[in-house]
Amino acid sequence: MAAGLDKPRHSCPLCGGNVFAWIGIPRSVSEASVGLPSPVDPDEPAADARLVDRCERCGLGIERSNENLDLIAELDRVEIDGPDGGRTFAAPNRASWQGSIGGDGWAALAEWPGRLLLTPRSFALLADKNGLEPQKPAFPPAGPNQRWMWQSILNGITLHHNFLTEVRAGRLRVANSRGPVQFAADMVASCLATPFVLLVSFPLEAIASLAGRGGRMIMRASGASGESLSDFDDQRRELAGSVEVR
Ligand SMILES: [Zn+2]
Repeated sequence: MAAGLDKPRHSCPLCGGNVFAWIGIPRSVSEASVGLPSPVDPDEPAADARLVDRCERCGLGIERSNENLDLIAELDRVEIDGPDGGRTFAAPNRASWQGSIGGDGWAALAEWPGRLLLTPRSFALLADKNGLEPQKPAFPPAGPNQRWMWQSILNGITLHHNFLTEVRAGRLRVANSRGPVQFAADMVASCLATPFVLLVSFPLEAIASLAGRGGRMIMRASGASGESLSDFDDQRRELAGSVEVR
């Protein structure tokens, strides 16, 4: 899947492990590339694809960019609640069963925020770099992770990734698809297969969540004891800052 595995591109900004080329994902928001075949070779990328590397130690996925990586912004993007005594974060789990099943067709890849694709370990390291004390993540059995699991399995039989989601969002139409025949084939396959896929995907994701391999992680974190929130912010600025990872 990923060419260039023998040569690390750089070291991981969170754990210092070696980071290798992983996958290229056509940008689902771009009409011109919705129907691109995937995977895109990360060493010979198409013009409009998100290129992602991964750390062999903590499992972190890192999207390439010309900008420096901002670890404060990356954590802020996945915050869902706070700062009422503690802060709560939620992110897709790259180390999940659905992530393994989906590969480059993992549905969460189309909607993950920011440049970092987190695993439980890298999630904790990111919070730690921001001066927070993370708790063990929880993996809720229900939520968007159910839709990601269903769509990831469906992606295995359709020619377009996230076909129904893209059609419903109005981003994929016959005109910008891989062709009218392929569009029709995916419509028929998606409609016929959906009930059967749901029979498998729903319990599978529920079991994955119980096993600690759910598709969505929720992590609470608190600041180091005895410090005020303004102290945290100063500390975060010092600890995180911008890291030169491209
Ligand atoms: Zn790492």
